[in-house]
This record gives sequence, structure tokens and C-alpha cells, in this order.
Amino acid sequence: MAKSKRDISAEESHVIKKCPECYTYIPLDASKCPSCKARVGAVDKHGMASRYVNWGSYFMCFIAWVVLAIYVWYAFFRS
Ligand SMILES: [Zn+2]
Repeated sequence: MAKSKRDISAEESHVIKKCPECYTYIPLDASKCPSCKARVGAVDKHGMASRYVNWGSYFMCFIAWVVLAIYVWYAFFRS
């Protein structure tokens, strides 16, 4: 597994990481926060665990905008 220099130094300079969702201290090798059950990644240089992108939320946001656009068209621009 190839790792960049920055990742290695970040992992070596921290003995614990912080959950980005609830700020609980969790072990460096944890892949899931025991407190809020969020998936967390490797530690960054600030001691925070990296956050996974929540694609489901982006998708729901997109759907919500599409529904709004359809509603506006239906309510005001339909002829
Ligand atoms: Zn958490």
C-alpha cells in the first residue's frame, strides 16, 4: 500500500484521533466511531479523523432541488 509522506508523519505524530462528527477521542486504528457510529478514516495532521463523503446526502439534496424545480414549473409556468 503506497502512502504519501504526509500520511505517515501524521500517523506517527498522533497516538489518538478525534471523531469529526462528535469530537470524541477514538483509537488511531478505529474505522468507526464508538460514540456516534460514524465511519472515520485515517488521522490527518490536526489529529482529526478524516470524514467519508456522504454521497447519499448529496443525492437527496439533488433530488430535493429537482422536485422543487418541477413544483415551480408546475405551479407557475405551466400553460
Ligand atoms: Zn463520533
